[in-house]
Amino acid sequence: MPELPEVEALVSFLREHAVGRVVARVDVAGIEVLKTYDPPVTALAGLEITGVARHGKFLDLDVSGLHLVVHLARAGWLRWSPALAPAPPRPGKGPLGLRVHLDDGSGFDLTEAGTRKRLSVYVVRDPSEVPGVARLGVDPLSAEFTVDTLAGLLAEERGQVKGVLTNQSLIAGLGNAYSDEVLWEVGLSPFKPARNLGREDVERLHAAIVDTLRGAVQRAQGLAAKDLKSEKKSGLNVHGRTGLPCPRCGDTVREVSFADKSLQYCATCQTGGQPLADRRLSRLLK
Ligand SMILES: [Zn+2]
Repeated sequence: MPELPEVEALVSFLREHAVGRVVARVDVAGIEVLKTYDPPVTALAGLEITGVARHGKFLDLDVSGLHLVVHLARAGWLRWSPALAPAPPRPGKGPLGLRVHLDDGSGFDLTEAGTRKRLSVYVVRDPSEVPGVARLGVDPLSAEFTVDTLAGLLAEERGQVKGVLTNQSLIAGLGNAYSDEVLWEVGLSPFKPARNLGREDVERLHAAIVDTLRGAVQRAQGLAAKDLKSEKKSGLNVHGRTGLPCPRCGDTVREVSFADKSLQYCATCQTGGQPLADRRLSRLLK
């Protein structure tokens, strides 16, 4: 799933390749991805793309005052093409949700792999009309994200630190993968109650969030959209690495599975050597 660093890299890529171009046509292949109808998506045709921005994990193309806002969700992606096929795609079950043709023949596809239909596209006059954007919390790469800000967020929450880090209304842009990385970096259990963290833990957590995201943004910058996924994967220490050795201590990376996702951690580095209960399994055994 694209998180802050990948979306940030897509923003840079589109600034370079799409800004200044005029939208020639938008093909909707999967009508369910389009979450708004006024203004219609056809209103974008003939307008110039004047800017690209990121809000949390949302991508925002400013098309002369109209905004094409995209949430790629878990399996969504943006596929850039210097020369798109001009024929309209056939609507159907394929991964294609939306295709945007630009005036020089280039353009991009918004796609979603698998059957979970979560890729969401909005055409609005202001990005804050998108409920998910309006709800976003502080951006971890902004100046407002200080140690005190983070301390305040954690102190007010009853949940576990993993849940706080991935709650978009609290911190915008951090998802399942980079929160695993951050927690591994500071040696904290994902299940540690957020409000139990001491000042020193919060300081280290803050530094890890900023460093991890900045590092990932730096590695992702300048890469073509198609290379971002593999770059993300190669930069991860524990996330998605169940069964592989922890790069710090050599212990085997473990996972906790939930209904539709899993988190990874190192027991030696994060939980005093104690494996965490697999919630899916424990639920089944009850
Ligand atoms: Zn370890």
